Amino acid sequence: MRKTKLCPKCGSKDLSKERDAIIQSREFFKIISCNKCKFVELYMPDNEEREKKMRNSSIFLWSMIVVGFAIPIGVMLLFLIP
Ligand SMILES: [Zn+2]
Repeated sequence: MRKTKLCPKCGSKDLSKERDAIIQSREFFKIISCNKCKFVELYMPDNEEREKKMRNSSIFLWSMIVVGFAIPIGVMLLFLIP
C-alpha cells in the first residue's frame, strides 16, 4: 500500500497521507488509511526514520533539561547581582 499507492482492499488511489502512530507509547509506526473504504495499514518505519525520531525526542529532552537549569540559574543571578 505504501509503495503501490493503491488500497489493497478496494483498489482506490484515494489514500490519506502517512501519519505517525505511536502504540502503547513505545512502538513507533507509520499509518496509511484509505479514504474510500477506511482500510488502515500500519507498517514499521525504516530504521533511519526511527532513529531520526529517537534523536528528535532526545534533543527535546536535552533542551528541556537545559531550560530547566537555565531558568533557576538566571533567577539566582538576578538576585545575586545588585
Ligand atoms: Zn480502500
